[in-house]
Formats: sequence, C-alpha cells, structure tokens
Amino acid sequence: MIFEIRESVIKCTKCDLCKTRTNAVPGKGDQNAKVIFIGEAPGRTEDMKGEPFVGSAGKKLSDALSKAGISRESVYITNVVKCRPPNNRVPNEIERAACRAYLDAEISTIKPKIVCILGNTASNSILGQGEITKNHGKIIEKEGIRYFLTFHPAAIIYNQELARTFEEDIISLGKML
Ligand code: SF4
Repeated sequence: MIFEIRESVIKCTKCDLCKTRTNAVPGKGDQNAKVIFIGEAPGRTEDMKGEPFVGSAGKKLSDALSKAGISRESVYITNVVKCRPPNNRVPNEIERAACRAYLDAEISTIKPKIVCILGNTASNSILGQGEITKNHGKIIEKEGIRYFLTFHPAAIIYNQELARTFEEDIISLGKML
C-alpha cells in the first residue's frame, strides 16, 4: 500500500506544485514504523533527490534520532505536501488540501503509535492549531490518533537553544515508543 501511495505521488498532478517541481517527494521509511514524522514540504535538496529530509534540516533530524537511540530506518518520514513550493514558500490551503489524501493514506496504512508533527505549518494543517513554542513536547489526541508536537528541524539550524530543546523532545518521544 505504501508502494501504491508512492507511485501515485510520483506522477501526481493534482495541484500546481507539479509544474515547478523537479521531483515529487513521497514519504520514506519503514511501513511498520511506530512513529511517522511529518514536516512542511520538500526543500531544494529534497526536490533534487526525490527524498524527504535529506538536506541540512534532515541531518538535524537524523542527529536527534541518533541521540534518542532511534534508527532513521525504523521510522517513516513525510511532509504535508509532497512537492517543493517555489522558493520554499509555505504551501497554501489549496495545495495542502490537494495533497491531504496522501498523508491520510500514509497514516492509516502505517498505523503508527505516534505521529510526530514538525513545526507550525504541519501542526496547523493537521490539528488546526500552531503554537509549537507553547505545545512542543506534548501529546495531543485527535480522532483516535496520538500526535506529538515539536519544532521543524529547519528552525533549529541557527539556534543552539532551540536545537537542545528539539533534541530533548525527540529523546522524550523515543521513550514513548
Ligand atoms: S503537492 Fe501533492 S497534490 Fe500537489 S502535485 Fe505534488 S503530490 Fe500532487
């Protein structure tokens, strides 16, 4: 089923982001993962490679996973929208709505123990609320799914204090798995 979602994403033309992408970026990881990480959208490196979180933000995520004793291969990583918005702008409502079925299918197929939301855009899209600064490290339940909130790793690249908080959040997430 994850394979079918992947194939659909790769050839998807449901919104205008298909016109400017180099590659669509389907989710990647273990289809039996206990946790799914959801970011905002692919960036430049991801668009070039067709893989999620392989740029500098992805390295931060990998480092935090490693410190938490979680192997990157054991998790599943995806984004709210699967194609890069031009100049990394925030994906708009139309694009998020067009792409939503893929995200819902990924979650319902994998059935993870926890869905980890990375940053305000993902939080707004999925939970209808942002405020990551206030809610990071917390679990929010909605429609039978447990969501864990933390910062987007791109936000911590130049902020040491936030980087420590992000790592602590991922360590505490690891203990819940
Ligand atoms: S962003 Fe999502 S809905 Fe839009 S073209 Fe890409 S895969 Fe399709």
